[in-house]
Parts: sequence; C-alpha cells; structure tokens
Amino acid sequence: MATSVIGYPRIGNLRELKFASEKYFKNEITASQLETVAKSIREYNLGVQVKGGIDYIPSGDFSYYDAVLDASVLLNAIPKRYKDLKLSDLDTYFAMARGYQGASGDVKAFAMKKWFNTNYHYLVPEIDDDTKIELNAKAPYDLFTEALNAGTKTVPVVVGAFTFLKLAKYTGSKTREDFADSVIAAYKQLIAGFTKLGAEWVRFDEPSLVKDLTAEDIAFFEKLYKEILAAKGGSKILVQTYFGDIRDCYKNVTALDFDGIGLDFVEGKKTLSLVKENGFPADKTLFAGVVNGKNIWKNNYEKTVALVKDIKALAANVVIGTSCSLLHVPCTLKNETKLSSDILKHFAFAEEKITELKELSKILDAADPTAVQEYKDNVALHAIVRSGTDDDVRAKVAALSEKDFVRLPEFAEREKIQKERLNLPLFPTTTIGSFPQTKEVRTTRSAFRKGEITVAEYEVFIEKKIEECVRLQEEIGLDVLVHGEFERNDMVEYFGECLDGYIFTERAWVQSYGTRCVKPPVVWGDIKRAKPMTVRWSKYTQSLTKKPVKGMLTGPVTILNWSFPREDISLKESALQIGLAIREEVLDLEANGISIIQVDEAALREKLPLRKEDWHEDYLDWAIPAFRLVHSGLKPETQLHTHMCYSEFSDIIKDIDDMDADVITFEASRSDLTILDTLKENNFRTEVGPGVYDIHSPRIPSKEEIKEAIDKMTKRVPLTKLWVNPDCGLKTRGNEETVPSLKNLVAAAVEARNENN
Ligand code: GLN
Ligand code: ZN
Repeated sequence: MATSVIGYPRIGNLRELKFASEKYFKNEITASQLETVAKSIREYNLGVQVKGGIDYIPSGDFSYYDAVLDASVLLNAIPKRYKDLKLSDLDTYFAMARGYQGASGDVKAFAMKKWFNTNYHYLVPEIDDDTKIELNAKAPYDLFTEALNAGTKTVPVVVGAFTFLKLAKYTGSKTREDFADSVIAAYKQLIAGFTKLGAEWVRFDEPSLVKDLTAEDIAFFEKLYKEILAAKGGSKILVQTYFGDIRDCYKNVTALDFDGIGLDFVEGKKTLSLVKENGFPADKTLFAGVVNGKNIWKNNYEKTVALVKDIKALAANVVIGTSCSLLHVPCTLKNETKLSSDILKHFAFAEEKITELKELSKILDAADPTAVQEYKDNVALHAIVRSGTDDDVRAKVAALSEKDFVRLPEFAEREKIQKERLNLPLFPTTTIGSFPQTKEVRTTRSAFRKGEITVAEYEVFIEKKIEECVRLQEEIGLDVLVHGEFERNDMVEYFGECLDGYIFTERAWVQSYGTRCVKPPVVWGDIKRAKPMTVRWSKYTQSLTKKPVKGMLTGPVTILNWSFPREDISLKESALQIGLAIREEVLDLEANGISIIQVDEAALREKLPLRKEDWHEDYLDWAIPAFRLVHSGLKPETQLHTHMCYSEFSDIIKDIDDMDADVITFEASRSDLTILDTLKENNFRTEVGPGVYDIHSPRIPSKEEIKEAIDKMTKRVPLTKLWVNPDCGLKTRGNEETVPSLKNLVAAAVEARNENN
C-alpha cells in the first residue's frame, strides 16, 4: 500500500533551526550559515522518509518561521510598511514574523493566532486595499528542485487558496471576493510552474474545510477551485484536509476535479461515515490519515488494519498516511536516553511514525495481516496494562458532587470584600508572572539538573533572583507583584514534575511558534499532588514586600492540553484528577498568606472542538468545571486570577465568565479590540486586564502607545474592573526591553488614573 506524509517537523532533532535562527537574529551568523543549517535539516528529513519507503513525501513543509507566512510571501501579500524597510527578502520575512526595530524603521509584527486546535501558532495574513496578489514562488520551487536533485520527486505543498483567504485579515474595505481572481491566477501559475519542474502531484492544504462553513464559504471554495483546477495540465492536484472531518462540504469537494482528496480518519469523527454514506469517486485517490500526527502513542495496528479494510471497501484508490503534519509531535525517540525501554516502547514520534507507516503498508499488503510479525508484536504491546493506576485518586474523582464546583459567596460579594482587603488603586498594574529567563537563570538551572550545584545552592540562587525581581517591580512601581517564575523552565513541565503520574522526555520538543518550542510532558498514569509545588517561593516573595504578591499556578485544562494525554482514559477524567491536585495547592497558598492567586488557563480555548455543535458535549462541559474545582474552596477575600494567551473568546464568553474567576488577563494588543465590545454587550462581570502591549516582539512600546490602548479600554470597560498589564509572561524577553516597557506601562497607567480619578 502506498504511504504519504503530510509534513515533517522542521526544527531539527536537536532544535538546530531554532538555535541557528536565534543566532541569526542576533547577527552572530550570516544568512548563508542559517541556510546551511536549514538545508541539512531538510536533507535529514528527506532521508528518513525515503528510507521509510514513503511514496508521497512533501516538500515545502519546511519553513523558516511559519507556512502561512510563507503563503503570504508566495502571494506577495506583504504590506507596504515591511517593503518600505528595504531589507533583504529573508529579513523582510522575519520583520513580518517578529516585528522590526532598527536603523531601517519601526514596525510591528503580523498578528499571531493558534493554528486550529493545536498549540502551534500561525501568522495571520494581512490584506489591505493596496495588496497586489502576484505569484512569487521561488521558495517552493527551490525546495522541490532541491529534493529532486537529491533523487526524490516530492509532492510540493502550499496553503490552499481558500484557507489562505479565510484566515486572512482584511484591513481595508476590500473583501476576499475582491482578491479571488488574482489569487486564482497565482495558483494556476503555480501549478504550471510545478508541472514544468516535473511535479507529478501538487498539494493544497485546506484545513479550513474542517470548520463550520457557511453556504457562502462553500460557494467561494467551489468558485476558487473550479477555476484553479481548470488549468491543471500535467500535474495531479491533491486537496489535503486535517484536524477533523469535512461534514459541511464533503459532496462539494468530491464533486470537484481533484485527483486526490486527503481526509483525517483520526480526528474526523464523521469521516468514515461521510465516505460510507456518500461514496468516494472511483477516479480519485483517497489519502487516508490513519496514523495520529498529534499524539505520541504507538499506533494500534489491529484498529488501523480494520479501519483501512473498511476504507478500501469504499474507495478504489487508497493511500495511507499521517492524520496531519508531524510538526505537532517530537522528532525522534533516538535522543531519549533516560526513559526505560518499558516506557519508550509505547511511544512513536515523527521518525517512528514513518516506520509505522512502512510496517502498516507491509501488513496491509499481506494476504493475512494477522500473520505478519510486526502486527503480532503490536497487538502484544497494546495488551500490556501500564503502571500508574491509583485507586485513591479514582475514588476522589468519583465522589465529586455539584457543590465542589461552586465558589461561595458569589462574584459581586467577593469583589466588594476583595476591594476592601487589597485596597488597590484604579487601574492596578501587574504582570502575567514570568520575568526574563536570562542566560544566568537557564545555565544555573541546567547546572542544578546536572547535579553540578546542590539543592541548597540552587535555592539560594532562586531566592536572589526573586529578591532582585521584587526590588525591580517596586522600583518600576507595579501594584501587584510576582515572583518571576525563575524556578520554572515551562509552565506545564514544572507542575508535571511535582505531580505523580507524569513522565518526561529529554528532547521531545515541538514547535509552538517561530523559534519557540515546547516539550510537553506525558500523562502516563493517574495524577496526584506529590508535594507542595510553589508555596515555598510565593511565601518567600511575600515576605520581602508589603505589596500583594500573586501566587502563580497553571490550571488543569492547560496542563492537560499542553501534555501528551492518555488514550486509555477520558480527557475529562484526567482533567478532574489534575484539578484536584491544583486545588490542594491553591488552598495551601491561601493558608500561607497569599492573597491573590493566578491560575493560568493559557490553553483553554486551544482544544475547543472546531465544530460548534461539539463544543459543550465534547469539551466545555468538563473543562469549565475542572477549573471551578480548583478555586471553589477559597475564602471570599482571596482574589483568583486567570490568564489566557489570546482574546478570541467572544463566542464562548459566557463560559469564560462562568469560570467564575475574579480577574482575567488576556492578549489584546496584537488583535483588534472587538473583544472589549463583546465584554460590554455581555455584561461581563469578571474584572479584566486586556494586555496593553505585545510581549512576543522585542519592540519597546512607548508610553503614549500604551496610554492610547488604555484609553480605548476605558471607553468599553467599567473603570473599576480594568487592570493594566502586558499581554503575556515576560520569560522570552530580555531585561533590556522589559524594564523600559514596564516603566512605560506604569507611567501610562498613572496618567490614565489621574485623568479618571
Ligand atoms: N504565568 C505564565 C508566565 O508569565 C503565563 C504564560 C502563558 O500564559 N503562556 O509565563
Ligand atoms: Zn499568555
């Protein structure tokens, strides 16, 4: 059976691309040195797939930063402010990705958004009335040619026309319809270009098809592809979907003149039934995503073989492949030296998933799949009951009742009590928790981990950093202080390490955005709090200052969403187990004199099902209660904050209010402020801190700029409910930009306070 891969991780097994890019940003290496690193990663990735016998290997899945940004460049959707910088192509590209502040000018970066239901982020295409869509396909052509010269005819992949126009932000008066013709022309030209280079297939990724679509969306999709496909010529065209099923447009897509259609049978709950009910055209190839591109557990061959048998009964030409790009899983198990083979044998990362496809292909080609040794081994593996079951935890979850999810007294009364207790000024200023993780912090932590310094030495160091951080915040004039999170490398991994039930990898990095990678821990068994996790640091910090110190925790939904979850128990069960553990910590902080506690739910929206009809039943009905469980035991005078790394929650605004936090801070500076209108319309009762500047970019916001943001906010939010803060934690920034930025923030807040008091 033929096999296909949607995309391969591009950061490199040891994050080589991240390190090289960061050096390039600091002018420590040249563009051609960066290119050399990128090239060797591509060579390696290609080699893995060639060795794995993959028939449809992608090219163009490589990116220096993000594939959607690549599509903006491909279509020349580069706003004038970047062109005006007159930088090299590569630097213009990075200016769009990260913003630019230097000799050539001062511009902000593109907005960044979560990529569907993943923890990856893409850069939102920006189209204004002057945008002239024109094909600029040098990069994808070069990638195709590079692989061809190395002996492999790849499938070039680009973001499809519909998804591109759907994700784009239109800043002028024109709409996507106005760009349809020029986009169609560009894609036609692109196909012709690839045909000329000898491509047998060209792939367009259209993940937007798995979301709820309107009749206009579907008509627009049809219009685009009727014309694009009319110019097909020599290459076959594959439309690839992932992250769900295409229930709104299955018939429309299969009726178009595509040669191949890629469907996700892992996350697409309805994919199989759609194919069953509607059939699949005999003249097309079905690219069936059957190996999970998002989780790290070994594929269950018994189930997959049965599934593929079903699919083959429905479609004449079937290729098996990954369910989405392997970008969302780590590169390889080869670099894991510490976990036992009893654990590792349950996992498959990107490289091992290539092997799975090879094995599945062999098994499926056999007259009797069950007789193949790889099949037998896999069945035996899945029969093993893993360790880590805890009856005590299971019983506690089973015993939870209604009242465990309700905090009393209700919000308005608590708000009054807390205002009296905390006595904060109008527009209180605070930060989201972390302060710059400088080289000193990182090297000391790593020395501690390697056993080069003792626990006592490490703790003295952390205390020193905390004290510096407190003094700095006092000097800056912030109202609610934090300890700076110097003891944490990551907001989920840190808690995972303090909880029973988690295991950790050494090098299982996954790209989150650009050069930022995360190393999600793995939920292996039942979860419980093994020991206090943050109390020591929060208590110490509070002992240094009269100002209130905010205790800093990560919430259960985020911990779960940023871990690799189990597949043998439900997400709900895992979330409640983690909720109980965090609840113990929350109560412990309160008992130790901490008056404000922040429980970050940075990733709450991330796993919201892509379809509205699935939202509550599949997700919110357990996710919101898991959060409420964390804080329902607090006294009324303790103020509970939460933080979210985005502002797209207009559509679940009631559920967000229903989390029953006292204050919520969120990202607002990179997106427009429509969320504030929604808050107003919905009578949002939780106090809010919409981020007043973007911490994802190294630029320093001026006082005026921040004041302007605050002024916009005061027009829409009741004054007594407004907080002033950056839009996320500062750990990825340096002190050189953080200190002046925060000073400007405080100055702007003071000015606004004086005007409004
Ligand atoms: N408290 C965390 C920090 O400041 C929150 C980070 C996040 O939301 N991603 O780093
Ligand atoms: Zn955040």
